[in-house]
Amino acid sequence: MASKWAKRFIQMAELVGSWSKDPSTQVGAVITKNNRIVSVGFNGYPHGISDSAEIDERETKYLKTLHAEENAILFAKRDLDGCDIWVTHFPCPNCAAKIIQTGISVVHCPAQSEDFLSRWGDKISLSQDMFEQAGVHIDWLVLDEPQ
Ligand SMILES: [Zn+2]
Repeated sequence: MASKWAKRFIQMAELVGSWSKDPSTQVGAVITKNNRIVSVGFNGYPHGISDSAEIDERETKYLKTLHAEENAILFAKRDLDGCDIWVTHFPCPNCAAKIIQTGISVVHCPAQSEDFLSRWGDKISLSQDMFEQAGVHIDWLVLDEPQ
């Protein structure tokens, strides 16, 4: 069972993810150090780029979008060595690379649904391999509510 702080930070990641204007995907990330929030991020376009997610082609949207983890890392503007990151969805390999390179040491993620795993299983195992090789600990959270 997840601890009190784990529940708080995952709930915070879910809340932040809900701010995303992307109609199909809402991802949140929270970076913490010693149970204090260092940064948050959700998936979306960079500042100043018009929110035309509904009218952009899927491919265009994909190219312009920053992922929640990227936004949280960029927004922090500080050394993230030894920080924890809390994510609503397991990081893609590109974000895994950035998480590793910033020195973040633990990735906390709710145990993913069967549906999510069947859609993204290959990318998840790639990211998992990267984290394992780099010594980043993965903490799969078992939450009270079924996902
Ligand atoms: Zn990503």
